[in-house]
Amino acid sequence: MGRRPKDYLKNKIKRPKMKTILQAPKGMPDILPEENLLRRKIFKAVEDLGNFYGFGQIETPVLEETKLFLHGTGPTSEIVQKQMFILKTPGKDLLALRPEFTPNIVRAYLENGLYNNPKPVKLFAWGPVFRYEQPQRGRYRQFWQCNFEILGSADPIYDALTIQIFYNLFTELKMKELMIEINTIGCDNCRPIWHKNLKNYFRSKRKFLCADCKNRLKINPLRILDCKNESCQSLKNGAPKMIDFLCPECRKHFKQILEYLEILGLPYNINHHLVRGLDYYTKTVFEIRLASDNLALCGGGRYDYLVEMLGGKSTPAVGGAAGIERLVEVLKKNNFKVENPYKPKVFLIAIGDLAKQRALKYLEALRKVKIPVAESFAHESLKAQLRQADKWEAPYVIIIGQKEALDNTIILRDMKASSQEVVESEKMIEELKKRFKNDNIENI
Ligand code: AMP
Repeated sequence: MGRRPKDYLKNKIKRPKMKTILQAPKGMPDILPEENLLRRKIFKAVEDLGNFYGFGQIETPVLEETKLFLHGTGPTSEIVQKQMFILKTPGKDLLALRPEFTPNIVRAYLENGLYNNPKPVKLFAWGPVFRYEQPQRGRYRQFWQCNFEILGSADPIYDALTIQIFYNLFTELKMKELMIEINTIGCDNCRPIWHKNLKNYFRSKRKFLCADCKNRLKINPLRILDCKNESCQSLKNGAPKMIDFLCPECRKHFKQILEYLEILGLPYNINHHLVRGLDYYTKTVFEIRLASDNLALCGGGRYDYLVEMLGGKSTPAVGGAAGIERLVEVLKKNNFKVENPYKPKVFLIAIGDLAKQRALKYLEALRKVKIPVAESFAHESLKAQLRQADKWEAPYVIIIGQKEALDNTIILRDMKASSQEVVESEKMIEELKKRFKNDNIENI
């Protein structure tokens, strides 16, 4: 004798249920489909620029040995001091979620012998990076960056080219009123003299410094120029400037970049307080921001010693990174419109089991010829499915009922003209293409 429903109920499995819905970790937002349309546009622009300027795309792991950043990003940087997510593996290794890309790219350059390629080696990358900081506007704990790095040339033309690429990226995305902030922080020959003067200056103002900066004074007075505290900020104007201490080589290098920027007609502002938060920069540092906002869209600079610091041969290099979330924010503010390239041109309706079987086959036929389709098979009735078709705004609807399924036909409905006709299923694609052509609807 068969089992009765009551028996099923009696044996029903009890699954443990969460009392509340879990949330993503603080500062690590989900990226939903609508936003991904915008992000895809950004990545496409990054990729096109990378291809045009001869960059190869590189991907490095999200986790790296912690010492890569201790050594590379630098022990006095804010990132290393406060912002790293560090994981201990079951094998007791210390790995860090990458807080930036540059040291990883240099590590990969060395590990994979990319230095054997013709120089300069140009690489671009994108992906998530992680920093433990207080989430606020334009500042997340997980965010995405895209990077352009040029390794193996000390020529200032590559500093200018890096800046130009980022500038072009933003103008490709229709951003206006961009401003390049640029400075030089010298090299190992001239920076120590500036360092010393800076230290003396801030020492004389010690009582006005915040607690963090009192500490920075001991380890790296340059970082004080980065401090957002009002009292520390007010001391910046009187601080000694790197430009007054540059060695002839650094002076020439800086002058040449400015000349290139002028030739390219790119707007720049020499910002003597711009030092950037990372320890490895030499000579050029830059940021690009909107004139109306003080959040940087990108930042970068020259890092002539980093390859050597990470165990390679002395290799001058320059590069930068842009934050994808900040670009998305600007695009949203500018009402940047992105059409979904997969917007359905056909909505497929099936009523009944046999019709559903046919519909699955037609769906495949449409996919093969790359006609974007939407469906709502879970809705049983014609009315409910038509309602969904309206929502998708597909210009054509294909209806398969029991009769059509048996006859191997479809009903092709023109939504704009509110007319419909029966078409043999074999001729479905041909008929659709003919109509798209007449309507001037492009196939993707
Ligand atoms: P940085 O690696 O600090 O030079 O930053 C390069 C770019 O990444 C910045 O110009 C921002 O666009 C972006 N960025 C940096 N930190 C964050 C963050 N916490 N959240 C979102 N974007 C960020």
